[in-house]
Amino acid sequence: MRETDLMIIGAGPAGCSAAIYAVRSGVKTLMAGGAMPGGQLLQTNDLENYAGFENPVGGFELMSAMHKQCKRLGVEILTDENVKIEGEQSPFLLTASNGEQYKAAAVIIAAGASARWLGAPGEEKLKGHGVSACATCDGFFFRGKEVVVVGGGNTAFEDALFLSQFCPKVTLVHRREGFRADAVTIEKVKNTPNIFMMLNCVVEEVLGEEKVTAAVLRNVQTQEKTTLPCDGIFVAVGAVPQTAWLKGSAVELTESGLIKVDTHQRTNIDGIFAAGDCTEPEFRQAIVAADSGAKAGIAAASFVNLHR
Ligand code: NAP
Repeated sequence: MRETDLMIIGAGPAGCSAAIYAVRSGVKTLMAGGAMPGGQLLQTNDLENYAGFENPVGGFELMSAMHKQCKRLGVEILTDENVKIEGEQSPFLLTASNGEQYKAAAVIIAAGASARWLGAPGEEKLKGHGVSACATCDGFFFRGKEVVVVGGGNTAFEDALFLSQFCPKVTLVHRREGFRADAVTIEKVKNTPNIFMMLNCVVEEVLGEEKVTAAVLRNVQTQEKTTLPCDGIFVAVGAVPQTAWLKGSAVELTESGLIKVDTHQRTNIDGIFAAGDCTEPEFRQAIVAADSGAKAGIAAASFVNLHR
C-alpha cells in the first residue's frame, strides 16, 4: 500500500489548482485523472474568459499547461479515473481500478461533470454513429455534412460556431426563445450565415439505422412535428455531476447529485474536501472550478499539516 498526504480525485482545473496549492504547502500530493486528464475543458476550443490570456486559449492547451505546472511542482499524476474511497475517517483507504491501494490523510474530490443526454428514442443506439456530446472531439468527422446542435447555453452556441467552419449547414435547436449563452457568443452565431435556428423545438426522436439520418423535432407551442434531415446531432444540454459513484457512501450529496460543501470546501466527512463542477450548482466556469480547487487545496493542506 502506498501512503500519501493528499489524494485528489479528478485532474481538471479544480483538481490542478488544488494540487498546486497543496504541494506548495509541503503536502505530498497524488492526483488521479483519466487517460486524457483535463475534464470538460478538453472539449472547449477557445476560452476567451479565463483571466490571464490576452488572446483565446484552447482548452487542451490550458489543461496541458496546468498538468506541466503540477508536475514541475512535484505532484504525481495517476492515470486512473476510478479511484474509490473507503472508510469514513482519516487516514482514508483508496483503491484504484487496478486494485492498487493508497492511504491518504486527506482527499479532495474534483470529479467534475459529464454530458447530459436528451433521452430521446434513437439517441442511445446512435451514440458514436452521428450522435455526439463533443463537437470538438467529433466535429472533424462531419466535414461537408449537415448537423444539428441542441441547447441554448454557451456550449451549444460555441459548438454551432465551431461546426459552422466546416459544415455547410448547422441547425441550432433550442426548446425556448431565450438563451443562456452570453451576448457576445449569441451575436456571433446570429451573424454566421450557415447557422439556422429552430426555436421552441425539442428533439422527439433520432432517426437512422447504422448512422443518423434525421432528427424529428416537435414545436412545443404548436405540437407540430418536423423531420429535419441531418448527418450528426450534437447534444449540448448541460452537464450532470460525476458523483453517481458516491451514492450510498457517507459523503453527502444534494438532491441533484452535487457534493455538499461549506465555504472551506469541506464535505460532511472530516478530511474529505470537494471542489469544481461536482459541487457547483450555477457557475460552471473553468475559472470558478480553479477558484474552489484553490480553496480546497489550502484547506486540505491545513488539515494534513494539523494532523501530522
Ligand atoms: P447550460 O448553460 O446549463 O445550458 C444548457 C442548455 O440546454 C439550456 O439552454 C437548457 O435549456 C438546455 N437543456 C437542458 N436540458 C434540456 C433538455 N432535456 N432538452 C433540451 N434542452 C435542454 O449548459 P452549458 O451550455 O453546457 O454550459 C455549462 C456552463 O459552462 C455554463 O455556466 C456556461 O456558461 C459554461 N461554459 C462556458 C464556456 C466559455 O465561457 N467558453 C463554454 C461552454 C460552457 P433552458 O435554457 O431552457 O434551461
